[in-house]
Amino acid sequence: MYDIIIIGGGIAGLTSALYASRAGKSVLVLEEASYGGAIINTLDIANYPGISHISGYELATNLYEQVKELKVSIVNEKALKIKNMRNKKQVITKNNVYEGKAIILATGRNNRKLGLLHEDELIGKGLSYCATCDGAFYRGKVVSVVGGGNTALEDALYLSTIAKEVYLIHRRDTFRGDDITINLLKKKDNVHFIFNSTISKFKITDHRLSGIVIKNSQEETILVDALFVAIGREPKNEIVKNLVKLDDNGYIIINQKCHTNIKGIFAAGDNCRKSLYQLVTATSDGAIAAEEAVLYLNKKKG
Ligand code: NAP
Repeated sequence: MYDIIIIGGGIAGLTSALYASRAGKSVLVLEEASYGGAIINTLDIANYPGISHISGYELATNLYEQVKELKVSIVNEKALKIKNMRNKKQVITKNNVYEGKAIILATGRNNRKLGLLHEDELIGKGLSYCATCDGAFYRGKVVSVVGGGNTALEDALYLSTIAKEVYLIHRRDTFRGDDITINLLKKKDNVHFIFNSTISKFKITDHRLSGIVIKNSQEETILVDALFVAIGREPKNEIVKNLVKLDDNGYIIINQKCHTNIKGIFAAGDNCRKSLYQLVTATSDGAIAAEEAVLYLNKKKG
């Protein structure tokens, strides 16, 4: 039996592993995909205190190596179910049942989808949720970005250096993202803002995206080679929705010490309800959740 099972190997989960392991606890990290979580797709992090510039991949890899040095078990399996028993917790994956004394939920968030017909089948065929991963495929082409937050703004800025034209489509007339990026975008001749508009349909040619239908007071088709969807994220809390208390938007409700409403189950990172979703708050949550889990185990031990 492990002392602490951490579900999610993103920045919050790996930071929890670092702190819990350094406190002498045995730790298992379950990660369904690759380590690093959402930050892995960020090309340049410029707001992490003490580091002027680093890529998400480099930062996540450094953290992963740091955690591996501490002999933490990191297993690539998807947690499918969690059982809260009297003296232990069980995490069930496809092939295994893992037992732990405490759990930290650090599952992060998924990209929000537009919810349009044919959206899933167009992924990789002109439709992407990650400009830094797929932007290079569209060198010299016409691309579009939908969204008005920092991700959409930064995606549009990045794509403006690769693509011939970039259409940035936002459903309101003011952006949610930072002024500094908006001002940089305004200086770009190849970036076109389309406000007060939503995408109502995809135009498909030879099984690939070839255009988007924009809806405002009327409908208009723009021919594009790609659409990058950057309309926010949704918490990945499906497996705990009947276990811990979630808010109306599906985020885990935690207190300042990263406690959920269930004893011995803590949560950290983007899957929790909080005011700021940043790298710096993910690491902070990770450290606090680990510290609290350690205190919980030590108290139980007497
Ligand atoms: P976000 O801030 O939640 O923005 C999502 C955007 O998508 C909003 O403009 C929203 O419109 C729009 N939207 C939502 N649902 C939509 C729909 N169904 N159809 C069309 N548009 C829709 O998400 P984000 O940009 O991914 O950023 C997430 C967090 O990460 C934020 O806190 C952000 O500041 C942070 N972040 C920071 C950096 C950085 O500091 N360098 C970089 C990237 C992200 P409305 O505005 O009308 O709601």
